[in-house]
Amino acid sequence: MSSNSFQRAISLTQELLRFQTINPTSPERPCAEYLAGILEQAGFSIRMHEFAPNRTSVVARIGGHPDRRPLVFVGHTDTVPLGARSWSRDPFAGEISDGKLYGRGSSDMKSGVAAFVVASLELASGAAATAGLTLLIVAGEETGCEGSFHLARHADIGAAGAMVIGEPSSNHPLVGHKGALWLRARTRGVTAHGSMPEKGVNAIYAAARAVAALESFRFDVVPDGLLGSPTLNVGTIRGGLNLNSVPDQAEIGIDIRTIPGQRHSELRAALQAALGREVELEPVVDVPSIRTPVENPWVQEVFELIATIVLGPGEPSVAHQTDEWCEVDRIGQAVEAYVEIARRWCTL
Ligand SMILES: [Zn+2]
Repeated sequence: MSSNSFQRAISLTQELLRFQTINPTSPERPCAEYLAGILEQAGFSIRMHEFAPNRTSVVARIGGHPDRRPLVFVGHTDTVPLGARSWSRDPFAGEISDGKLYGRGSSDMKSGVAAFVVASLELASGAAATAGLTLLIVAGEETGCEGSFHLARHADIGAAGAMVIGEPSSNHPLVGHKGALWLRARTRGVTAHGSMPEKGVNAIYAAARAVAALESFRFDVVPDGLLGSPTLNVGTIRGGLNLNSVPDQAEIGIDIRTIPGQRHSELRAALQAALGREVELEPVVDVPSIRTPVENPWVQEVFELIATIVLGPGEPSVAHQTDEWCEVDRIGQAVEAYVEIARRWCTL
């Protein structure tokens, strides 16, 4: 790989960081159009898809062969909000200090998108007669993969031979991903004047009991050798309209990450039993876990390259955190790894 590509991936990450793409307040369209422009210039055919106004995903393709399916790179351009704590760096400036590139989305996952885009640009000129490359750069991932679902349902994205997802993995190739079961738990009560709580039923108290039950909820499952144990986090709580009334409704947002072997329907039933009848559960996101068998030949080939391979340059431990950063060197290593994976896959 040329040091040119290395530099280009870092500056492209910085450029992407300067587009504010906080989901859902700052739509992805300008960022998506920028990437589409670069890829189109290099000879990729481009399709744009919007799951909502200005919430734009890009499908970019080059090459292709009737007998071999393409290699697909996948990434998202949206980020989570900045959080309540103030940042010590500008989250949108792309500042580099001590080998770290700071910014919201630097790890999750604008560095990953920049790395596979630069790798694809490097390969573009030789891609015509190969199995080809497809890039899926999606909007709206952080709130439940709306952009991906939209593409899967409405876009002709074709088949994939193999997929590389550039999510942060700090240079470790991963062959599985936990499932996500996001639930909204609602409690109801009866409103009354705040000075006469005995005349009402307090929905926040019911929600508090539910939160306590969720904190002590234990999954009845053996940890997966690769993905570890399932997790549960209460991410939001809302309830009550005014301080001097007994609240008649409260809501809790629950984020559960599951492992292979867990059935989401059974898990929901177990949660319902733990929470009791005063809590109504409603699914928000329901995506099963994935796990590619390690014996799979393509995975074996990727593992052979482990020493230098990166599937996502970002740092998973700082994703979604204040002062999110990504190691600058890892961005270059990712480009190198992506180029190598693509070369091996695309050779006919
Ligand atoms: Zn991500």
